[in-house]
Amino acid sequence: MREELRDCLLNLIEGLKRWEENPNEVPAILRKGHKKLVKLLLHEGKKAPVDLPALIALLQLPVSKWGLPFEGVYPLEAPVLVPNLGVSHHALEFLAIHESAEEAQAKEVWAIVQYCRGAEPPLEEKYRRVRTFLIRNPVVSAMKLMSFRTELQDVELSKLLGVCYEEITEDLDRYRICPRCGWTLEYRRDGWRCGADDLCGSLVSRKELEKWEPTGNLLRLKPGVYRYTMLPGLAELEVEEALTTKGYKVTLFPQVDRYDLAIHLGSHTVYLDMKDFSHPLTLANYFNRMQVYELEKYREDHIYVVIPQYRNKVYPGFARLVSNALLPHARYLRVINEKEIQAILEGGTNE
Ligand SMILES: [Zn+2]
Repeated sequence: MREELRDCLLNLIEGLKRWEENPNEVPAILRKGHKKLVKLLLHEGKKAPVDLPALIALLQLPVSKWGLPFEGVYPLEAPVLVPNLGVSHHALEFLAIHESAEEAQAKEVWAIVQYCRGAEPPLEEKYRRVRTFLIRNPVVSAMKLMSFRTELQDVELSKLLGVCYEEITEDLDRYRICPRCGWTLEYRRDGWRCGADDLCGSLVSRKELEKWEPTGNLLRLKPGVYRYTMLPGLAELEVEEALTTKGYKVTLFPQVDRYDLAIHLGSHTVYLDMKDFSHPLTLANYFNRMQVYELEKYREDHIYVVIPQYRNKVYPGFARLVSNALLPHARYLRVINEKEIQAILEGGTNE
């Protein structure tokens, strides 16, 4: 049943996403998801949505109201669609962890990781520079991007970096500068929002918003790169800065992104992997779906999965909720809140 529910949701969400991109045609995969949903509901003896409007109405309800056992599959209180906003951020995240490879990375960044790892020797330093550039330059002038790409002195890497960005020169009127992260705010429903989730809006209050001046060509990170690389990257850089200020020796993205941060202590090194998910269950499922060998990297001593502080504000006890939802093969993972990092470094223990 779980697998069927998951498949059905994946079809529906993928279909809705494609439909948003091309509203003239109802995608076949959405119809497929609809059929699966009807079958599941009828099987449970529940009323099923007969047509598209009925389906849309159902998708706007929290999944707990659908009449199907979604426990452990999808956040019960979350809908798939939000009126006037489109596919919910929970749904996008659900799709992302199921379709993209390992790291729940945007595919553009995943290509960079693979390229840098595959080089002989691996491009450790160049990877770090590219990754940091992406985090610090959510919107960039064509000039600045070009000069950085040239500096890399690597044609392939330069090309892969270019793919992370898209032109916005012609659309500047649509956008405002996000005061928190610097990416593009867009007006949707009743206000300016940064991405589907508007995490920035919930963290920083907005007053006067500024526009970009139309001087030369301007590019922004593609939405996937913004969501899965840049936003979590801000938290990673903040932790790095805070620890460096305290006198720790820190390396970002060690071993071409095997972890996010390495903190070199006298006796050993502590590795942190920051995971920026909006719901504890989604993060737990991300790990639960991994094969034993894919989780191997978390098995060694001194390795921690870290939840950014702002996620903990929304879901107090986020780390504990994740731990509780892990399946037996993933239960050894050490999931902690950002605030606990200091204690771990001082304690010098591996628990
Ligand atoms: Zn933002």
